[in-house]
Amino acid sequence: MGIFAKRTKTKTRRYMRDVDQVKADITSPRHLELFKQTKAAEDLPGLGRHYCTECARWFESEHGLQVHTKGKPHKRRLKALKEGPYTHKEADAAVSLWTDNGPGRGGPATKEVEMST
Ligand SMILES: [Zn+2]
Repeated sequence: MGIFAKRTKTKTRRYMRDVDQVKADITSPRHLELFKQTKAAEDLPGLGRHYCTECARWFESEHGLQVHTKGKPHKRRLKALKEGPYTHKEADAAVSLWTDNGPGRGGPATKEVEMST
């Protein structure tokens, strides 16, 4: 009983923002601003001046940020963002749980059935 591999699953020290949160950051600057307001600038590396939006990470220097932008974790993140967040709809589809309302979406009575004679 309980969570499998609880120690590794519940570790939050290296937790970064999830893909759906970053996606919202990119589409709305206000969303990002609200997140940044939750952190105090003096606690952040480089006083919070060098920030990678995609990875939600702060860097000590401009150079550090540039090195990071060329690195593998950043590129991996860009790819994950391009694919989009994993949705609940996908999870349902994986176990073949979906609704097919047909192309019309007008209700149950609008579906037409073609009969071949
Ligand atoms: Zn990055």
